[in-house]
This record gives sequence, structure tokens and C-alpha cells, in this order.
Amino acid sequence: MFGRKGNRAASETVKDRQMELKQLSSRDVGSRSEAAAYLAEALQGLYSGDPTPAPHPGGRQAGLTRLRVFNVGAYQARRNDVGPTAGASVLSPYLRHGCITLPEARRDAVEKIGSDRAYKFIQELAWRQFWQLQRERIGDRALNQDLETPKVPLGDGAVPDEVEAGETGLNCMDTSVRSLKENGYLFNHARMWMAAYLVHHRKVSWQAGAQFFYRYLLDGDPASNSLSWQWVASTFSHKPYFFNRENVEKYSRDPATGETYCTHCNAAKNHTCPFDASYATLGKRLFGPSYDNDNGYQRTGGDSKSGGSRGVAPRGSSQRR
Ligand SMILES: Cc1cc2nc3c(=O)[nH]c(=O)nc-3n(C[C@H](O)[C@H](O)[C@H](O)COP(=O)(O)OP(=O)(O)OC[C@H]3O[C@@H](n4cnc5c(N)ncnc54)[C@H](O)[C@@H]3O)c2cc1C
Repeated sequence: MFGRKGNRAASETVKDRQMELKQLSSRDVGSRSEAAAYLAEALQGLYSGDPTPAPHPGGRQAGLTRLRVFNVGAYQARRNDVGPTAGASVLSPYLRHGCITLPEARRDAVEKIGSDRAYKFIQELAWRQFWQLQRERIGDRALNQDLETPKVPLGDGAVPDEVEAGETGLNCMDTSVRSLKENGYLFNHARMWMAAYLVHHRKVSWQAGAQFFYRYLLDGDPASNSLSWQWVASTFSHKPYFFNRENVEKYSRDPATGETYCTHCNAAKNHTCPFDASYATLGKRLFGPSYDNDNGYQRTGGDSKSGGSRGVAPRGSSQRR
């Protein structure tokens, strides 16, 4: 019910609270705000800041309602949009917490439009399952250690304060941070952008980035989150994921007004947008002159990197999404 801001308290306190929560589940707690007040009291000491009800109502009924209204027919064309035309289901908090299951979501989609047309949606559901299976297979290493040698130099920095405060001056990043904090949710594309910005532009460690997301996401899931960060970083994929301004403009466009995230962006206005370049140029800027966007990082001995960067393996191939 609450945003993910809790600290971990002593185990006895946790047990006491779990008992109270069990009792809560067998009581009639009345309205959502009454339940929120009760939970704020029962969970005292386990969260910081002001307790506020989560933006999405929890529970199975809310999950089923979300599933019912989801327009799976528009998913394939609009799943990457982050503006008013966004077509993602926003089912992740319900799937993550077991309010609805992956087979239920797949069945609902197939009943609505048939398996051929629902293919893309089913494929994304499968990604969730894939990450869970990988985590099961690999163990906790998947959550905190590089699974492969990075294909580009990576840094080991912390999330910069101005990023966490949503004050980078980059509208595409600051809007995402606001959504993360206020809604506990980000569209997949926005997650990819933010992860790429932090890991490749700001040289933040993917582990620090994953913790930052995990603190706020209502769907925060150790496997999906950490393995996705590893995928962006290139420690669990053949090459790093990064993006350019054209990509942000394309997927954040409001067809009614023509405006995009860049329309109101100070960095775009001042011509200081770090994403405003071709992929070839950005690749070299981020990873050194011998980085080849088609073939990955070619170690020729000529690449100089900033301090704190980790090693690279020379290889590369096409990206997944
Ligand atoms: C850096 C990063 C961090 C992420 N962290 C999380 C996380 O903590 N928890 C989480 O559930 N997902 C995570 N994802 C995956 C994905 O972004 C979310 O599942 C998706 O955005 C949830 O929104 P939705 O339900 O509207 O998605 P939809 O596009 O409507 O997809 C439907 C469902 O399919 C699954 N799904 C979709 N895309 C992915 C994907 N790329 N990987 C795994 N499952 C997917 C989710 O269960 C999702 O609810 C992360 C992705 C990135 C790039």
C-alpha cells in the first residue's frame, strides 16, 4: 500500500508487525484511507518520511480491473511510447506482488485478440519469467555481481544527488524521477533511458542504479530490476544499451500538440543535450574512439577512459529491443 521507502528494522519488530498485518487481513478495515491510517500505525518504524497511500490501489480486484481495461490490441504499436499515447498495461505492480498471475494475463490477452495478435505482449510476459528463472539458476550473484565481462568500460559511481532530486535540467530524466517517486512506476522505455544515462553517461555502477530504482518502484523486483540493469550495462548482453535524442522525441511525442520531452527541456534549448547525436557519434563519445556501434568495442589499445572504469571484452552484436 505504501511507497517503497522503508528501512529494514530489527527482526523482532518485523515479526510483531507481521502478526499485526495477519490480524489486519482478517479484519474489516473499512475504506482505503482507514486502511492506510491503520497500516501507517502498524508499520511504524519500518518506513521513513510521511506515509502516503500508493498511487495504485493494491489487491486482486484492482489487478483484475486493470487487466479488464487494458487495451492489448494497441500494445504492439504503442508499448514503447512514454507520452499520452503510451500503450503499456501498467500491470507490473499486480504481477510482481502476485495479485494476478502471468498465465492469467496471457489468457486474458489471447481471449481478447487471439494469440497471434497478442504475441508481443506474451513475449514481454515471458521476459518476466525468464528473469525469474535466470535468478533461480544463477542465485544472488545475478543481483549484485557482473555476470559477464562488461563489453564497454563501466564506472563505479553513486547516483548523483541532482539526479535523485530530479534536477539535472534534462527533462526526459527529471520527468522520470518525478514519476518514479510520485507513481512508483516508469514505462519500460523510460527505465531503459534512465539506466543508460546513469550507467554510461554518469558512470554510476549498475548496482547503485538498481538500488535507486528498487527503492521507489512499486513493481520493484530483484530479478527483473537487476538483470535489466545488467542488460543495459552490457554485463548480461552482447553490447551496451544507449539512446539518442531522436529516440526520446519519437517516443515522447504528443500527436495532438507535436510536443515532446525535448520541447520543454532546458538542455535542448541551450544546445547542451548529451543525447543529441547519432548513435555512431554517441558510441565513440561514451566508450572511446574505437567503439563501433555495429561491431561493439574493438580493443586496439587506444581507448582512454575515466578513472574507476572496469574492464572490457572486445565483442558485440545486435541489441535485443
Ligand atoms: C532498468 C530496468 C529496470 C526494471 N525493473 C523492473 C522491476 O523492478 N520490476 C519489473 O517488474 N520490471 C522491471 N523492468 C522491466 C519492465 O520495464 C517492466 O516490467 C515494465 O515497464 C512494467 O510496466 P507494464 O506492466 O506497464 O509493462 P507492459 O509492457 O505492459 O508488460 C506487461 C508485463 O510484462 C512484463 N515485462 C514487460 N517488459 C518486461 C521486461 N523488459 N523485463 C521483464 N518483464 C517485463 C512485466 O511483468 C509487465 O508487467 C525493468 C526494466 C528496466 C530496463
